Parts: sequence; structure tokens; C-alpha cells
Amino acid sequence: MTKGLVVILSGASSVGKGDIRDILLQDKDLKLFYSISETTRPQRPDEVDGKDYYFVTHKEFAESVRNKELLEYTEFNGYYYGTPKQQVEFLQSKGKNVLIEVEAQGVGPIKLNMPESIAFFVMPQNFEQLEKQINELYKDDQASAQRRINKAKMDMELAPLFNNVVSNEDAQKAAAQIKKVLMKELEKRK
Ligand code: 5GP
Repeated sequence: MTKGLVVILSGASSVGKGDIRDILLQDKDLKLFYSISETTRPQRPDEVDGKDYYFVTHKEFAESVRNKELLEYTEFNGYYYGTPKQQVEFLQSKGKNVLIEVEAQGVGPIKLNMPESIAFFVMPQNFEQLEKQINELYKDDQASAQRRINKAKMDMELAPLFNNVVSNEDAQKAAAQIKKVLMKELEKRK
């Protein structure tokens, strides 16, 4: 059985990765399964444990790190986020294509472990608009908004390292662009 393809979706916080991710996951041609990350961030009211993230304590997260259970992990805005290795490897071994969503620094370690993976960086239409969006989304927590803006700037500096940079003027268009690259890749692997 051909091993599944590992697809990495990255880009700054609030750039709209989530919308693109949902379109890609619903696309039957791509047969993508989502890699659910572990995080110590508190669960938001609209989030489901075991679907959006595995919400864990700092102690549980540290245990995963100690047991080398994560493919990569990072600290973001005071919380930890990591990609469970076993989940990705299991799906891949069953021939399933896996979609991993990470901030830009998570991409390096995944590529190092899985050089055949394919990474996409989602760019905002322009930075001012992204800044406005972050300020709006996190209007109740200005410090968090500012940290996300600073991190977005840093993430965008890493964009030239990616082979595939997609502008998110429109989530449907961005997803279509990603699909085109993936279909070519999947065709090659047949
Ligand atoms: P949020 O708190 O908005 O859900 O996520 C914050 C950032 O962490 C987003 O850019 C998201 O893509 C990223 N992220 C989510 N899961 C992981 C992960 O497992 N590893 C890394 N490196 N980043 C992640």
C-alpha cells in the first residue's frame, strides 16, 4: 500500500487557515484526514475536545514531550501546541492523506522527519488587514492580540522558505490552488 501524503498548512494566526482547512477536508478527491493537535490553551466555547484539539494540562503536555510522542511542538502566546506523532504515522501507514495545521515554526521539524511532506504557507492579502482582523477577534484581550500580531510578522518572514505560498484573498480560491498542487502530487504517487 502506498503511504499517505502528509500535507502541512501553515501561515500566521488569523490568516484564515481554518476556512481553507475545512474546504480541503471536505473535498472528497483529496481524502484528507485532520491531524488533531494537543494544546494547553483553554478550550473556546465553540471548540470540541478531540475534534478541534486535544485539550491537555501542562503536566500532560510535558509527559507527551518527555515520551517523545510529538512530531513537533511549540509555545505560542503562552500556551503549548504539538502534533501527535502516532496519529500521523498511523493514518499514513493506512494510506490516508493527513493534513497538519501549524504555525510557521512547526514546519521545519515536520519536514526534517518527513521530507516527502508538502507544505503550504497562507499569506494574508495585506498585513494591515490581518492586523485589523486579529484586533477584532481578540478585542477582549489586547495583550494577546499584540502577541499574535508580532508572531504573524515573524511567521511571514519565514514565507520565502516555503515552496508553495498561497494568498488568502478568498478561501475558496486559495483552497482550489492548493488542491491543484495536491492532485498533481497524488497522481504522481499512483
Ligand atoms: P489557536 O490558538 O488560534 O487555535 O492556534 C494558534 C496557532 O497555533 C495557529 O497558528 C495554529 O495553526 C498553530 N497550531 C495549532 N496546532 C499546532 C501544532 O500542533 N503545532 C504548532 N507548531 N502549531 C500549531
